[in-house]
Amino acid sequence: MGEEDGMRPTLKLGSIAGIPVGVHWSVLVIMLLLGQGLATAVLPAGAPGVSTGAYWTAAAAVTVLFLLSLLAHELSHAVVARHYGVPVKRITLWLLGGVAELEAEPPHARADLLVAIAGPLASLGAAAVFGAAAGGLYLTGLAPLVWVALGWLALVNAVLAVFNLLPGAPLDGGRVLRAALWWWRGDRAFAARAAARTGMVVSALLIAAGTLQIVWAADFGGLWLVLLGWFLLFAGQAEQADARLRGALAGLAVRDAMIPPPVSGYVTQRLTDFADVAAAQRPADAYPVLDPDGRPAGLVTLFAMARVPEARRPEATLRDVRIPLERLAVLSPDTPLDEAARSVVSSRLPALVIDQGILVGLLTTADLNRLIDLSTLRKGRAPS
Ligand SMILES: [Zn+2]
Repeated sequence: MGEEDGMRPTLKLGSIAGIPVGVHWSVLVIMLLLGQGLATAVLPAGAPGVSTGAYWTAAAAVTVLFLLSLLAHELSHAVVARHYGVPVKRITLWLLGGVAELEAEPPHARADLLVAIAGPLASLGAAAVFGAAAGGLYLTGLAPLVWVALGWLALVNAVLAVFNLLPGAPLDGGRVLRAALWWWRGDRAFAARAAARTGMVVSALLIAAGTLQIVWAADFGGLWLVLLGWFLLFAGQAEQADARLRGALAGLAVRDAMIPPPVSGYVTQRLTDFADVAAAQRPADAYPVLDPDGRPAGLVTLFAMARVPEARRPEATLRDVRIPLERLAVLSPDTPLDEAARSVVSSRLPALVIDQGILVGLLTTADLNRLIDLSTLRKGRAPS
């Protein structure tokens, strides 16, 4: 899989080649299900007549090796990306595989292609290594449990490589398609749109195939395909929205979209006094709060102020209800707007724009949306 934001690892494992690696809690669920399936069904069917303890030991080893092959897949994406100067934020393993989060787009079509293909190539490499080991061991006639386990790892890695090469974004195959179209037509936006569309076709086919499997064959294994199809559909839509956002905000900085801050309060100011000041001004949802020396100290929302019990209101100060600076997005006027948009949208509160310790503006989702709509409208009219 490719880059995706918003999925935070639950457990940090450390870092490999300077890239932080973590696992999401859903991996534990998969490890348990996989280990149980291997120990009680797959391995006993392939290599009968071995002790229960041996099946569970082999299943545990196979599960760990499987996770390591997922990691090798994502690390390959990450290492090639970094080779082309694209910073990698982190790698997270989760329910449906792994994600290498890239902090930028590859600089040219060839880099895009190599970053995308590196993961499936690593999976194919793992399949070849496990397959060769399984084949060699099979020929000696020794340790059937071990060669069945290795054979399963080879098969699963091959399936992973092939599945990821389905030609629709956000799968690796979709990125390969995007890179190829980008190289052919020289237009990255066109290539990304085409790969997104084939991604929707791939998702629809997966959902249809899974549904048929459930309805006609009464095989509930089809549920996996349906889930996977839904996931890809949502991930693809999120990615398209993100691409539109980047396109609309390209070249703009926070100073182009921020609004002048409304009247500020002070941390020591009483709630009731500030309410009078705020009521006399243009109404806002949130107001900045300053330290006595004039430095920004957070935000107060009307919502939070109105929820202070009436009995406590005369005593309460803005310090009691403020959202501290550490919990807010803080931007510089020069921050590129597409980068800023992510932190504003994910925090739901206005971001504070601070220049050399002085509050110079606020940036809200509503202002951003207006700017995006306006920029989209104007791009449609005048070719640039
Ligand atoms: Zn991948």
